Amino acid sequence: MSRLFDDKESWTREERKTKQDQSLSNMVSLGYEKSPRIKQIFDTHKINPLNIKSREDLEVLPVTSREKLVDMELQDQPFASLQNPDIKIDRIFTSPGPVYEPHLSETDYLWARAYHAAGIGPDDIALCAFSYHLVAAGLTFHSGLRKVGATVVPSGASSSQMQVQLIKDLKVTAYTGTPSFLMSIISKAQELSFDFKKDFGVKKACFAAEPLFPDMRRKFEEEYGIDTYQMYGATEVGDVAYECSEKKGWHICEETIVEIVDPETGRNVAAGELGEIVVTRLNDIFFLLRFGTGDLSRLIAEHCPCGRTSYRLAGIAGRVGDAVKVRGMFIAPSQLKMIQAKFNNLPIQAIVTREGHADRLKLRLEKISPEMGDEKWETGFKKYFQEICTVKIDQIEYVSAGTIKPEEKLLVDLRKW
Ligand SMILES: [Zn+2]
Repeated sequence: MSRLFDDKESWTREERKTKQDQSLSNMVSLGYEKSPRIKQIFDTHKINPLNIKSREDLEVLPVTSREKLVDMELQDQPFASLQNPDIKIDRIFTSPGPVYEPHLSETDYLWARAYHAAGIGPDDIALCAFSYHLVAAGLTFHSGLRKVGATVVPSGASSSQMQVQLIKDLKVTAYTGTPSFLMSIISKAQELSFDFKKDFGVKKACFAAEPLFPDMRRKFEEEYGIDTYQMYGATEVGDVAYECSEKKGWHICEETIVEIVDPETGRNVAAGELGEIVVTRLNDIFFLLRFGTGDLSRLIAEHCPCGRTSYRLAGIAGRVGDAVKVRGMFIAPSQLKMIQAKFNNLPIQAIVTREGHADRLKLRLEKISPEMGDEKWETGFKKYFQEICTVKIDQIEYVSAGTIKPEEKLLVDLRKW
């Protein structure tokens, strides 16, 4: 099996940008011509569609959140006139709202890149345990698995007992679904006196729709011998990013433009900073430009040893409302949790204040080991903090063990607005 899904994954950054800018400008022209909604948005903001020539030009357009899309669709059902009326839609999905989404097309590579990167292929029998009922998940992940040649068992939302039986009888080798559901399938198997690792052949799992917590991942990989991969997307825009075997960030799909923006202004943040993931899926069916996912992440620009040249997302750091802006950069509680995990579950609390016009970031740390406070330790801590959060710490306050109560907030904003 080839290491990469196709040539696009090894395009130079310049090549990718040129091709994507071209597709974007085609999508915008077509959208303006075919979709009364796009025409209205452009005309209201006095934007000439011919001026959207590259991803940098997208910033003049408003970000459309899920809530806004629901509103738009309620006024103008089913697709808020964002679709191309000349193309026959093969499936219509719905998700809570309700919001209706036209399926892109049978030929789309939706999720296939992700499964390929996880090493799933024609030799696999994959259990697709995403719901097939009304929502996009089941059928969309199913077609991705088919695109890499795997045999699919469409088990959907069947009971965990049924899933155990399918895994056993059909010699399933791969699982796709949520991590929590796989965990409950494993528990069910144990309840039925099976040894999941020895008795069954599930060696790979590709997860989406839920976070994969590090301790859960460790359990899957170490106790049950399952190689795990994370995938990220949204029903409105399809697949967005996926993990490769390096498992150091999620490669952005070749068919999407991902911007990381300041949710307050819709403008792109500086390289490597935290912001909202905004996605434009390049296609000629559904002209949803700049979909705001509400999820926070940052971009990794370094090249990945796997050979894919795309930018990567550094996981999901939380939801937009959770983040606090310090000196123009966002910090999210989940980033602080990552730091805690790195330093032996160190109890920490970040406090943001304002002195004059300047923001100040103080870190309270419980002194749980003697080396804490040493210059060497502190330098290492500050360096790691800045790697994860981008923002520099102004002051560290060491407090005695037990001072920071578990119910206290990780991130406290004391500034008056
Ligand atoms: Zn990679």
